Amino acid sequence: MSTNKISSSPAPFIPFTRPHFDQETIDAVAEILRSSWVTSGPKLAEFESALSAYFGGRPVRCFANGTATMKIALQLAGIGPGDEVITTPISWVATSNVILSVGATPVFVDVDPITRNIDLTKVVTAITSKTRAIMPVYLAGLPVNMNELYALAKQHKIRVIEDAAQAFGSQWEGQKIGSFGDLVSFSFQANKNLSTVEGGCLVLNNIDEAKLSEKLRLQGVTRQGMDGMDVDVLGGKDNLTDVNAVIGLHQLKQLPAFQSRRSALARQYFDAIRSEMKSATLGGLHLELPVENFTDSNWHMFQVVLPLEKLHVDRAQVMTELKELGIGSGVHYPIITGFTLYQKLGYKTAATPIAERIGRSILTLPLFPGMADEDIARITSALVGILKKHRKN
Ligand SMILES: *Cc1c(COP(=O)(O)O)cnc(C)c1O
Repeated sequence: MSTNKISSSPAPFIPFTRPHFDQETIDAVAEILRSSWVTSGPKLAEFESALSAYFGGRPVRCFANGTATMKIALQLAGIGPGDEVITTPISWVATSNVILSVGATPVFVDVDPITRNIDLTKVVTAITSKTRAIMPVYLAGLPVNMNELYALAKQHKIRVIEDAAQAFGSQWEGQKIGSFGDLVSFSFQANKNLSTVEGGCLVLNNIDEAKLSEKLRLQGVTRQGMDGMDVDVLGGKDNLTDVNAVIGLHQLKQLPAFQSRRSALARQYFDAIRSEMKSATLGGLHLELPVENFTDSNWHMFQVVLPLEKLHVDRAQVMTELKELGIGSGVHYPIITGFTLYQKLGYKTAATPIAERIGRSILTLPLFPGMADEDIARITSALVGILKKHRKN
């Protein structure tokens, strides 16, 4: 055991997120492992039909992870070399990596400084004769304006592949994200609101798309009768196992409880941070808060934008000092066009200045259903203390 400040601190370490699997889930996994069938089988079929019911009856198919899910969505839409896909530079790099992986070209449009999502008013000017799709991301679970998104897609005759990886349980005008629209992709990775450890699902338009996605996730294979097999399309190995699916079935039952806990904690963050800012203890330091949306957002994350221009230190130092106080934090996300691969492809961070600033200054604070109410006050006062200490005069 080291003797640093963290281990000598009486308060336990709060990670920025933590998955929650209850005893029932653990027992269900054990049961699958003891059965003779562990990979894709009856539990996967049960999970897919539960998801389909959740999304109002639309067809749903599961995949090994959210990245494979999005890649298969692009393949279903027939997107490949020579095609352009419009997306946001503030996302997990999977979003644009999958566009590159099918041979298409990502076109990055700047974000809205308030929502931190793709700015739909700027999408229009990025549309060319090569544009085949738009791939919006709902950062932290806050959707874009879905009416504007689909009006734009209809007007320009382009597909929408929603990277709703973070938006399971989010809504738009009372309808669940995924229950309407074009192709909607979710991730069940460990940090997501609903987790199968790793996994993902795609909400589809019709049974033809569902059948093709089944082929694409398993080597392009179709079977007929007792011994008939054919391959007529190139598929990969992207199926979800029954072990993962049974976890998903249990998580789906717990989702309403997870959701109300996340929302309650987010409300407490607003109250705690606002009262610190009002009480003038921050002396003009302004923390940019998320959109206070308790109807649409699933509160996947609670993110602030730091006033770095008014501080003597950078974000890394703020994170280090939070860690020394036993508080985890995260960066979601650095701007994608700043990565070496994307720089080599000729992308410039300066082309999207709002995203550039947000990518440099955004900070994810802890938020997960297992957090205690007291944690919010502890995190808020730690963060405010650090900002005050390093404030420029
Ligand atoms: C998690 C995530 C993904 C990828 O999901 P994986 O399951 O990790 O492959 C894609 N996009 C966004 C915005 C995500 O948050």
